[in-house]
Formats: sequence, structure tokens, C-alpha cells
Amino acid sequence: MRVMVVGSGAREHALAWKLRQSPLVDALFVAPGNAGTAAIATNLPIRANDIPALADAAQQHGIDLTVVGPEDPLARGLADHFQDRGLLVAGPTAAAARIESSKAWAKEIMAAAGVPTAACRTYVDLDAALAAVRSAQPPIVVKADGLAAGKGVVVAATHAEAEAAVRDMLGAGTLGEAGRCVLIEECLTGQEVSLLAMTDGETIYPLLPACDYKRVGDGDTGPNTGGMGAYAPVPAVDAALQQEIVARIIEPTVTEMRRRGITYRGVLYAGLILTADGPKVLEFNCRMGDPETQVILPLLDGDLAALFDGVARRRLSDVPAPRWHDGAAVGVVLASGGYPGSYATGYPIHGLDRLPEDVIAFHAGTAMGDDGTVVTAGGRVLTLVARGPDISDARQRVYAAVPGVEFTDMAYRQDIALRETQPRAA
Ligand code: ATP
Repeated sequence: MRVMVVGSGAREHALAWKLRQSPLVDALFVAPGNAGTAAIATNLPIRANDIPALADAAQQHGIDLTVVGPEDPLARGLADHFQDRGLLVAGPTAAAARIESSKAWAKEIMAAAGVPTAACRTYVDLDAALAAVRSAQPPIVVKADGLAAGKGVVVAATHAEAEAAVRDMLGAGTLGEAGRCVLIEECLTGQEVSLLAMTDGETIYPLLPACDYKRVGDGDTGPNTGGMGAYAPVPAVDAALQQEIVARIIEPTVTEMRRRGITYRGVLYAGLILTADGPKVLEFNCRMGDPETQVILPLLDGDLAALFDGVARRRLSDVPAPRWHDGAAVGVVLASGGYPGSYATGYPIHGLDRLPEDVIAFHAGTAMGDDGTVVTAGGRVLTLVARGPDISDARQRVYAAVPGVEFTDMAYRQDIALRETQPRAA
């Protein structure tokens, strides 16, 4: 099978790394990829949202299956375009990707399917939204309906903060189209976890539960980022809870979309919060998470290509359900100092060739410098991942390896997975 991965982050490097291990894969391409994917696949210099160029390349290179990392090309109809041209894709159509690209529509699906989620109202009118904010009890969650690259959610501690968020989105239009409609949502408390599932619209195979860290600073401080680290599995999600999440959340959501004539083919990602009243949905994503993918795939004891092929062909039930290695994986993102604000790039990265064997470096913002050295080329540069018999052990291994990698202004969180190594309050 000839496979193309679309995207250029550490998630896509992890996808390519796992696909490379499949005996079914005899050629692997990544568009556009990074310095890490260049070492295990052929990079194609095509932007991830240049859909016609990607389809041309798929035809030219005889690609049998395309796997899509980021949400943007899916929301723009990559799967629809590929299907029209007879090309197989493991990823949802634009209609199905709306589960991520419109939070208001996701809420509508959840309401129709009886899926537990935060109570919420939707507004397009500024005055009506302001009135709703004033009558709500802080903390108040204000969300833009559309895709806003992680900038569309404000958990406001005060009325003033919530009003400012509403004015920014509906009044000043700071998020453009994405913020033309806002959701004002009940604030939930509890541990956040992600449960991703592969589905062809009928069969559902959950992946291991994972936790990610969105804020840039230790102790969940500072601005939101694309993700600074992750671990899997999550002890709080035992087999019974995982089954409950599939039965009460994933399965009814896929079924409700199918009832509306939308077959979801791809990975459905449920961002959840474990409240005192049970798991509730914070958001759905229409693809694998970054950095969750980097800790889930090293634990997969199975053939990722076979699974994605089953998804794309709507024959997932013919493929055995994924099995998992024992133990845990912890991933720490090494970022350029200043990220998610402004930062410099082009610094040589040292130490990648001296990492211990049990530590994997998934590349994100990296490029090949003129003299063949790998240099920084983005905000999030690498995700270092270690596996171990348990979370504490995996955590120790990955943090022991971090100082071995060096680049100017390297920044990272010190507390990834720390909470799982400390005794829980009774
Ligand atoms: P992503 O970048 O993961 O796609 P997003 O920008 O789509 O995220 P959400 O995941 O919906 O946004 O929200 C971001 C964060 O805001 C959540 O991880 C959670 O910490 C917080 N949050 C969102 N909704 C709520 C809520 N109803 N109650 C409490 N916290 C919330």
C-alpha cells in the first residue's frame, strides 16, 4: 500500500513513524512534513490545505490511502474532493468535520443524541449575548462557534472578562467568521481527558485515553498553546468508564450523524471533563490530537495502516480491534522560547543522535539546515516521548532525556504527568 500523511507536526511524524512499521506499507509520503518525517518517508512540498495539489500528488504517486492530521483541510473538504476523484481517505467529509468546525452544530448533535455536555446558548446578536453574560454566574465560558486555532475559548472569571470576550468576537470581529456566532456555556469542573475513537460510521474502536496540557507554563499558567505535553493511558479512565464514554458519548454521536445522512469516517476525538455527575463533552475534534497522538501511537500493538484502511473502506469490522502494550507513555514538547508569542527560528538542534533508545523524538517545527544539521523552524519544535512500565517511570525516562537535546532558548514544561505520580487526595 502507498500511503500519504497530510500535515507537518509531531502528530504527523508519529503517524508516519507508526505507519512505517506496517508490513502493508511499501511507500510513504508526507505533505509537507518536516525534518523528522524526511528521515522515514518522502516529503512532498505541498501545504496541508492546498487540497487540489494534494489530490494531484496522490494521483501522480499512485497513493492508495491518505491519512489527514490537521482539522483545517478536513473542514475545507479534503475528503470530499479526494472521494470525488476516486481517492481513498481516512478522514471525515466537511459535513462530518462540522462536529469540530461548528461548536453550535456539535451542541445540536449532542442535544439530539442525548450526549452529556455543558449547558449552553448560542448568540449572533451582540446585545443579546451581553445580556446573557450579565445574568450568568461567573466563571462564564465564552466560545467562538468556528475554528480559531485554540484562541476561541475564554473561561472568564468575571463578568467584565466575559463581556470583553463577547465584544471582541461579536463586536470587533477579532476572530473573523469563526466568531460571528458565540456560545455562552456553563463552566464545568473536573479532570480533563481525551478519548479518541476510530470509526467508519458503524464500527467504533476506542484508542487509549490520554491527557494533554494546553497552557504554556507549569501549573497550567500562561496562554494556551497547541499543546505542551501529554500522557496515556489515564488511570482515572478505567475499562468501565471507557465503556461508558463510548456507549453514552461516542456511539450516540456517530449514530446521530448517520441518522442525518452523514457517515463519519476517521478519528472522532472527544474532549471530556470528568465531573461529579459523570463524563461530559467539552468539545469534539474531527482528527487525532497533538500531542495526544505522540503518546498513544507508541503504545499501539497493531497495524495502524490496516486500521486506517478499514476506516476509509468502511470495513473496520474486518480489522481486529487495536491491542495495546502494557505500561504508559509520557510526551514533553520542547518549544522555542517565546512561544506561543513571537520567537526566533533557525537555531541548530544538538543531541538528537544521542538520545537513549527508549526515547523517541517526534519532530514538529524542524527543518534541514544548509549544512545538513536539523534546525528549529517553528514554535513547537519536538515532542520527546518515553514509554515505561507505568506513568512515573515513563515520566522519569523522558525528563532524564530532555537535557540531552539542546537548542537556543529551548523551553518546556516541567510538570507533564506529575499529577499522576502524586498521591491522590481521598
Ligand atoms: P482545542 O485547541 O483542543 O481544539 P478549542 O479551542 O476547540 O480547543 P475547547 O477544547 O472547547 O477549545 O476548550 C479549551 C479549554 O477550555 C478546555 O480544554 C477547557 O480547559 C476549557 N473549557 C472549555 N469549555 C469549558 C467548560 N464548559 N467548562 C470549563 N472549562 C472549559
